[in-house]
Amino acid sequence: MRTLTLQAPAKVNYRLDVLRRRPDGYHDLRMIMQQFDLCDEIQLALSDTPGIRVTCGREGVPDGPENIAWRAADALLDLAGREVGIDIRITKRIPVAAGLGGGSSDCASVLMGLNQLLGLGMSDARLMEIGVKLGADVPFFIFGKTALAEGIGEQLTAIEQIPRVWLAIVNPNVPVSTAWVYQNLQLTNRSDDFKIPRFYSSIADICAILGNDLEAVTVKRYPVISEIKGRLQSLGATGVLMSGSGPTVFGIFEQEDGARRAAEELARTTGWFTAAAQTL
Ligand code: ATP
Repeated sequence: MRTLTLQAPAKVNYRLDVLRRRPDGYHDLRMIMQQFDLCDEIQLALSDTPGIRVTCGREGVPDGPENIAWRAADALLDLAGREVGIDIRITKRIPVAAGLGGGSSDCASVLMGLNQLLGLGMSDARLMEIGVKLGADVPFFIFGKTALAEGIGEQLTAIEQIPRVWLAIVNPNVPVSTAWVYQNLQLTNRSDDFKIPRFYSSIADICAILGNDLEAVTVKRYPVISEIKGRLQSLGATGVLMSGSGPTVFGIFEQEDGARRAAEELARTTGWFTAAAQTL
């Protein structure tokens, strides 16, 4: 086998609590992370020409060594002691710098795909160890299940029972830097007594835990986020929240129909990126 094509899904955070700043500059978090079926496509091809080549062609996404997919391939080949030529082609469908984890998911797909393509035999746990050095959300995409993520996001516990829902995804086409959001976060003396459940039997259970400590920071700079939340609510979403560091907002719907109608209506009346998608 010389080529492999993978789908790299996006994520939303049903919850994101920032617990404390750590001496190393990272923050200890507590998140509920959920993948959904809006995917980048990653094509991997072994080549007789040595070196790693990444092409994407999307504005705002670097080709070559600055692409996180390039760094994933480089790290993996280095640790495996292999010198092979690799061509990586990314078809970007997930909005960039959007709080949807697109880069991290591409990175995880490259680690898993090359492990398979080159027959390296590395365990998921080993791939996660490699992945966390490339990005805090990378282990989650290797884990592949809805998860409670703690630490910087790398300590993962599976949420065994959670209903699949439909999402209307709305991005106002402004890129937001995750680093900027954390720099502007004011951590007040917070208590973390809110217990996050491990079992969810209805959409209402999911909506009951929705929350994101980063939302206020990003909303202050981009008030359009509040407007999107209001529009989604009036279009029938059961719950609405900004994902990750934003600015993407998701609305939760029980039926495909509702999510599609909301996405179509907002695309038609605004210049925003919208999509209807189902959780995985
Ligand atoms: P996170 O919340 O993990 O920061 P995000 O969804 O907000 O993720 P990404 O889309 O992953 O943000 O992109 C963050 C930055 O990483 C972009 O500004 C982009 O230039 C850079 N980048 C490098 N490689 C990629 C890639 N494969 N896909 C998207 N962005 C990439």
